[in-house]
Amino acid sequence: MPELPDIVIYIEALERRIAGATLERVRLVSMFLVRSVAPPIAALTGKRVQGLRRLGKRIVICFEGELFLVIHLMIAGRLQWKDRGAKASAKNVLATLDFSTGSLMITEAGSKKRASLHVVQREQDLQLFNRQALEVLDATLEAFKETLQRENHTLKRALTDPRLFSGIGNAYSDEILHRARLSPMKLTASLAEEEVRSLFAATRAVLQEWTSRLRQQSAGVFPSNVTAFRPEMAAHGRYGKPCPVCGSPIQRIVYADNECNYCATCQTGGRLLADRAMSRLLKNDWPRSLDEMEKHFEERRTIDFFPSPNFNERPTGTPIDTIVVHATVLNTLDEVIRHFSNAESKVSAHYTVDRDGRTISHVPETKRAWHAGQSQMPDGREDVNNFSIGIELVNRNDGVDPYPKTQIQALKNLIAAIKSRHPVRYVIPHYACADPPGRKTDPVGFREDWI
Ligand SMILES: [Zn+2]
Ligand SMILES: [Zn+2]
Repeated sequence: MPELPDIVIYIEALERRIAGATLERVRLVSMFLVRSVAPPIAALTGKRVQGLRRLGKRIVICFEGELFLVIHLMIAGRLQWKDRGAKASAKNVLATLDFSTGSLMITEAGSKKRASLHVVQREQDLQLFNRQALEVLDATLEAFKETLQRENHTLKRALTDPRLFSGIGNAYSDEILHRARLSPMKLTASLAEEEVRSLFAATRAVLQEWTSRLRQQSAGVFPSNVTAFRPEMAAHGRYGKPCPVCGSPIQRIVYADNECNYCATCQTGGRLLADRAMSRLLKNDWPRSLDEMEKHFEERRTIDFFPSPNFNERPTGTPIDTIVVHATVLNTLDEVIRHFSNAESKVSAHYTVDRDGRTISHVPETKRAWHAGQSQMPDGREDVNNFSIGIELVNRNDGVDPYPKTQIQALKNLIAAIKSRHPVRYVIPHYACADPPGRKTDPVGFREDWI
């Protein structure tokens, strides 16, 4: 995953190329890349770039009109700069942004497709992406210490936690801990004053040194070799190679699809961190996968868009005054996304709320999603889809499958947000408007206090 030094270099390279330029066209290849609903990405075309910013590991392109494009490259996403209007030649191009000065391509290797774009209007909405994580390069020792010891975790976990520290991932945390001569397994609460000081100094030094090294390497050209593995690194990705300080072979701890590298001589008093007791500790206090952790936090902050083709226009001039709450019957969010994304299913909803509170959108609120089917309101109006917003709760609807608190809380938040946008008068369960009565039972167990 591109970390702070890589992102800073990307931003500097972009500033030189697109600051003041106009975005002329967006060519989207992957339908899942844009994860926001409104404003649409087309709102950015014709707009001038006013500047760029970094938010943690995200790149923000700021456009005139208080519009922002938030790019998150996750693990495998990368940027390429091409001549204006260049054809997307590489297979893994997800999107091309054609600026008046040249074309920016977003690529992602592999099949996971985790890189994302969000289009955001207004500064305050941009702050949803800001985890208030500490920027170590701007921080005081006191702030660093407070952040580090707010929770008691292993140093590896604390440094790579995107809620705590901005822009540090698997690669640079290895380098920082090696520089500070501290064990990745050491618990933050057990650090002596002197160790906190040396970790603070090492964090700043490593991030600064790498930023200037990468800056030199990409002088005059757009950064093309963005990787977490570099020959000048002391520990990260150097398993079995000699430690540049003491010559001992670099060790590793393997977890999920990542590994942590360290020098036993320099960092752990010669001990190898691979025994069983360590594995137990690792299980509870180790980022199983940093990528997953990022994803986890991301999903809690934003509503991702997985578009469904199953919608049409609402009758003109119809105010949206009703919310219909459904249960999916399908057991998982993935199944729901597949079902709603399939044109043959002919069904959709505006939103689905998963058991853990993750909320996604399938159809923009302004469009008529196909969720209620044949239907009649208690007040006699038919065809409820015309004037309603449909929300699905992931639940088997067997009367046994429980609705977790987090899911209900997310439903309440979503309803409150919709009410702030539309003159909502009714929030009803699907079974209350299904026609004929009894045609639908979802959501079984619906309670008034959910809404
Ligand atoms: Zn060493
Ligand atoms: Zn339903």
